[in-house]
Amino acid sequence: MEKGNISVSTENIFPIIKKFLYSEHDIFLRELVSNAIDATTKVQKLSQMGEAKGDLGELKISLSIDKEAKTLTISDRGLGMTADEIKKYINTIALSSAEEFIEKFKGVDDKSAIIGHFGLGFYSAFMVSNKVEIKSKSYKDESAAHWSCTGSTEYELGTCDKADRGTDIILHIADDAVEFLEESKVSEVLNKYCKFLPFPIFFGTEEITNKDESNTETKTTIPKQINNPVPAWVKNPKDLTDEDYKNFYTELYPYEFDPLFWIHLNTDFPFNLKGILYFPKLKKTFEFNKSKIHLYSNQVFVTDAIEQIVPEFLTLLQGVIDSPDIPLNVSRSYLQGDPNVKKITAHIVKKVADKLAEIFKNNREDFEQKWESLAVFVKYGIISDEKFAERAKEFCLLKNTEGKYFTIEEYKEKIKTNQSSKDNLLNALYANSADAQHSFIDKAHDRGYDVLIMDAVIDNHFMQHLEYKTGNITFKRVDADTLDKLIEKDEKQESVLSEDEQKELKTFFEAVIEDKTATVELKPLSPDEDPVLITKNEFMRRMQEMSRLSGQDAMMGNKEFYNIVVNTNHKAVSTLLKEDEAKRNENIRNYVDLALLSHGMLTGKPLSAFIKRSFQHLTAV
Ligand code: ADP
Ligand code: MG
Repeated sequence: MEKGNISVSTENIFPIIKKFLYSEHDIFLRELVSNAIDATTKVQKLSQMGEAKGDLGELKISLSIDKEAKTLTISDRGLGMTADEIKKYINTIALSSAEEFIEKFKGVDDKSAIIGHFGLGFYSAFMVSNKVEIKSKSYKDESAAHWSCTGSTEYELGTCDKADRGTDIILHIADDAVEFLEESKVSEVLNKYCKFLPFPIFFGTEEITNKDESNTETKTTIPKQINNPVPAWVKNPKDLTDEDYKNFYTELYPYEFDPLFWIHLNTDFPFNLKGILYFPKLKKTFEFNKSKIHLYSNQVFVTDAIEQIVPEFLTLLQGVIDSPDIPLNVSRSYLQGDPNVKKITAHIVKKVADKLAEIFKNNREDFEQKWESLAVFVKYGIISDEKFAERAKEFCLLKNTEGKYFTIEEYKEKIKTNQSSKDNLLNALYANSADAQHSFIDKAHDRGYDVLIMDAVIDNHFMQHLEYKTGNITFKRVDADTLDKLIEKDEKQESVLSEDEQKELKTFFEAVIEDKTATVELKPLSPDEDPVLITKNEFMRRMQEMSRLSGQDAMMGNKEFYNIVVNTNHKAVSTLLKEDEAKRNENIRNYVDLALLSHGMLTGKPLSAFIKRSFQHLTAV
């Protein structure tokens, strides 16, 4: 048997890096600026340790473009590199000094973390450059080093006359990447990735106006700082006012309304997680098209596509999550299964539930006012996350047509007193449009029943979920056929018509009604009830609505199935039996049309015909 080492041919590695290492080209800027930040963090630590002597000067990072020379330069005032260190860290791909450095200064001051890890970031420079130069002067007393490489495996290393401590990375931009010689493009990328990096970053210039004592204005051009090195989420929550939180929100989302409230995440153990999550004013519809939470790692922007990292219902929130414990540069599907990511997600879900429970407990009125915006989030959370559902039972609200709010338990208590339920099953009535179902809501109220408003897209699923999970409650829309069953049970009406008369009546109605999706039912309701009502089977209707939502219209057809309920105890109905055929048919047509009209179900031709008939009737002399 033979054992050996597989050798990787280094000539092949550049094209691979160039093509596959990062899916987005602009990431090179994130990597190089991160390295500059790391170098700056390191020199600061060295100084604290007494290893780097003297005044460090202004610790900043500057970028500049030279259009003639076609270069983009990133300069820092960090610890620098000696020629030997360049050989060691740059010439060996995938060797990072980060571990070594962290090992060396373990426990000194762990607040400022090092971004680099993999020892691959630097080479992303070759995604946009055909030549890269490094000019670096170490904090150690050595002459400055000059390295250059054209993207092959050969490099040149010599000295140069750089006087100041720090490193210049000079990118000779390749022809297929000239956009990175445009100030606007570089600004855009810096704004995306580097907006909250912890040391001041300067790019381009801005003009400021000064006024002297005699009020004369002078304009001066100064370098423009493009970042906020101390964003709100890294500050101590104790030091922040509501105003600070709102200002930071505006910094993130300049065009949005003020958020409802926020949660400051600040955990060191068992994982490191910082961030601020905002509850935006939500609408009743889903807005999942794009998540609005930005993921950072040590203040470096990583992604705003966190849909697959956190549960979908959390993506309705906005804000920033910063965790060096979420592994970067690995595939999303891998991240979902990552144990750290799972723990972090569970933590966030818990914090969010805590916050909602707290507001509900401390200021229910305030909570109720915000409910419209919270409802979709909470309901979606209940449906999709068991842990969240467990907590949300306390504060998930149901709203009735009078604008009163109840927790699920409170509501059960409320309707219990009204229902003689043998089987312990409570019937909750709801409307999803107070306008369209107005007459039915009135009828239910007349009989002392309460009606909930369930008008969000998610409500069908939500009710289904509650029925399934809670077990002893069912939801029926006010116009569902069960309403008249409830009414029936309530009033124990006997029909004034004989069996034969009822049969006859049914055939009369069926003869007039052409619509095959309608079923005629005779019911002995109260004489004060309308002569004809429309009801819909709850199950059929929900099925239809859901299949329509999922775009499967064809499955159930566009037609709505409904019942035409004839109230056999209404005087006008018994009179029908005594009328001649023409008169009877006209009356039946009119009663049914009126019932359909109250439901918004009379449209098109039948509606025009009905209106014409009515006018003729009303204006007949
Ligand atoms: P990583 O950042 O993951 O360590 P990189 O490929 O980005 O990997 O960088 C490799 C090493 O090169 C770094 O660990 C650091 O030692 C050194 N280096 C890169 N850029 C700079 C810089 N601007 N100043 C000082 N050292 C640097
Ligand atoms: Mg790096």
